[in-house]
Amino acid sequence: MTTNGGISFWYATDRTAPTTPPRPPLTADATADVVIVGGGYTGLWTAYYLKTAAPDLRVTVLEQKFCGYGASGRNGGWLYNGIAGRDRYAALHGHQAAQRLQQAMNGTVTEVIDVAAKEGIDADIQRGGVLEVARTPAQLTRLKAFHATELAFGETDRELHDAAATRARIDIADAVGSSWSPHGARIHPLKLARGLAAACERLGVVIHESTPVTEIAPRKAVTPYGTVRAPHVLRCTEGFTAALKGHKRAWLPMNSSMIVTAPIPESTWQRLAWSDSALLGDMAHAYMYAQRTADGRIAIGGRGVPYRFGSRTDNDGRTRPATIDSLRDLLFSFFPLLTGTEITHAWSGVLGVPRDWCATVTLDPATGLGWAGGYVGSGVATANLAGRTLRDLVLGDTTELTSLPWVNHRVRRWEPEPFRWLGVQALYAAYRQADRHETATHTPDTTPLARLANRISGRH
Ligand SMILES: Cc1cc2nc3c(=O)[nH]c(=O)nc-3n(C[C@H](O)[C@H](O)[C@H](O)COP(=O)(O)OP(=O)(O)OC[C@H]3O[C@@H](n4cnc5c(N)ncnc54)[C@H](O)[C@@H]3O)c2cc1C
Repeated sequence: MTTNGGISFWYATDRTAPTTPPRPPLTADATADVVIVGGGYTGLWTAYYLKTAAPDLRVTVLEQKFCGYGASGRNGGWLYNGIAGRDRYAALHGHQAAQRLQQAMNGTVTEVIDVAAKEGIDADIQRGGVLEVARTPAQLTRLKAFHATELAFGETDRELHDAAATRARIDIADAVGSSWSPHGARIHPLKLARGLAAACERLGVVIHESTPVTEIAPRKAVTPYGTVRAPHVLRCTEGFTAALKGHKRAWLPMNSSMIVTAPIPESTWQRLAWSDSALLGDMAHAYMYAQRTADGRIAIGGRGVPYRFGSRTDNDGRTRPATIDSLRDLLFSFFPLLTGTEITHAWSGVLGVPRDWCATVTLDPATGLGWAGGYVGSGVATANLAGRTLRDLVLGDTTELTSLPWVNHRVRRWEPEPFRWLGVQALYAAYRQADRHETATHTPDTTPLARLANRISGRH
């Protein structure tokens, strides 16, 4: 029996969840120096770093449900150095600027691990790097190009493996090559979010849960229970942003879905040759991501239904049965040995995609309004870099972080419906078709359909 929804496997199996009382909602008008909307990684890291740098600052977080309700409590637990938009930032600001961004991201993986240790946050963190695998000749061509690009951005510690070396690392059926980077760690996403919220409170951050913000405007965040006024108002709502008044076409709420197996016996792990901690991804157009969980399961994710008409977001993670079936089939195709293994949970979440697929962090000094997000599925580490950058921007400090090319980047809005829905459906249909074609034909070249889809969508 697969538990479908229930927010996420991480939530459903978190023993502290049922015993942790929700934090009290806002009950009246209030004031603060900084008000943060959203209790995910972006909001919590921002609050954490602001309060660490300026202990007297009054920082309030308003969260519609509970901290970690969104993608931060549902993701694949890839704490890694990828950042959406780096290549476009290189085109806009030059290679060196984008390389500084990449270096900042490499350091961010270590920063999250270090702060978690310092704050006593046990988030099952284990640093085993990231293994990206190719399973078709076209994927291998892309993998080699990807590997070369990452080296050009300064990742000199990355390794390229042939088929045999890949299978020695993780025994994946049909593997023809892989690229391994040390800049990645497996985490339990919800434990990180909950631990961060607790660390924020210890520093004196005020967190109100069950408090939906209905309007964000200069110097105020409005809720049904009162308005919080502050010189700075920061929007940290990523995939949920489209639901806010005036932001419907800002970031597209993209769905990602996951399943997790029952615990796998140690003898099977040994046959899979999957050492305790490497994260696993692939080079398909409709790519997958996976981790070996701390309790010995495989959690694997992919796109499922990518987008719901009208930018609708969430129903506590419920996932279409067809998506569960396709993720299970994908898992068994990677690891035929696991065929028949029970899938205990399935869930989904939303992440934010800007029109140009570039993550950004922004503060408008004139209005005091700021935001960060649009991480396109690479938000676990990026949200930490965003939090440190928002800190510097709010405090008015000019630093290395505030000079990075993703700061104050603006992008046009998404098309109105039905074009938005039609465009995303067509994009992912093209990716799935391209993956099928590349697998069936063994072509070493990326299918023109996928190239076209990338160009039209603005993704590459
Ligand atoms: C299934 C899935 C798998 C993923 N896997 C990975 C991965 O392995 N690695 C990786 O790097 N990235 C991954 N991502 C992306 C990553 O999880 C997100 O980019 C990141 O968590 C975003 O953090 P956030 O705080 O900006 O947004 P969220 O975590 O979504 O937090 C936003 C918060 O704002 C609250 N909120 C929204 N609207 C309002 C409102 N009006 N009033 C008050 N509160 C509001 C929400 O309830 C939510 O708690 C994944 C995402 C998903 C969905």
